[in-house]
Amino acid sequence: MKFTRPRLPYMASDLEPVISTTTIDYHYGKHEQAYIDNLNRLIEGTEYEDMNLEEIIRKSSGGLFNNASQAWNHIFYFFQFSPKGLKEPAGSLAEKITEQFGSLEEFKKKFEEAGATIFGSGWVWLSCDDKGTLYISQGSNAENPITSGLTPLMVFDVWEHAYYLDYQNRRAEYLHRLWDIVDWDVIGSRYNF
Ligand code: MN
Repeated sequence: MKFTRPRLPYMASDLEPVISTTTIDYHYGKHEQAYIDNLNRLIEGTEYEDMNLEEIIRKSSGGLFNNASQAWNHIFYFFQFSPKGLKEPAGSLAEKITEQFGSLEEFKKKFEEAGATIFGSGWVWLSCDDKGTLYISQGSNAENPITSGLTPLMVFDVWEHAYYLDYQNRRAEYLHRLWDIVDWDVIGSRYNF
């Protein structure tokens, strides 16, 4: 098996009560494992076999793209959380957020709104271009800003499997609560400006 599911840097119960142990077990344990298993099966014996995951995302389409991108997106999502992370952005990222959005609170509001208004399944992204300009964008299904040449910094999963066990239909509440576990140290490490 080429790709494997990396072990999370925290325990499944560490993000309670924002994300429950059951959700982590199903979402990262079962859903993510299925994407990775599909990905490994689909690349076997093809030109994609020797590519890294980002290359596969850039070059594939259809079922392979969906599984490759979902595999990547979930690792990116779960590794941005920590029970004891940095609660606010620092350094150049903090400055850029204030410059472009007015304040951290305004940025959070815009990000939550973008997540709440995605129709159906998808992801809300914060990414940057090669000049460090920030972008909030909505992606349907497995969409990823990598395919638009942007560098992803943060993502909130708005597929129902991400929140239904803990919040049922209350997607907006789930999005709002995620700020309690986002580790801005991780997000900042992804912003090299
Ligand atoms: Mn998901």
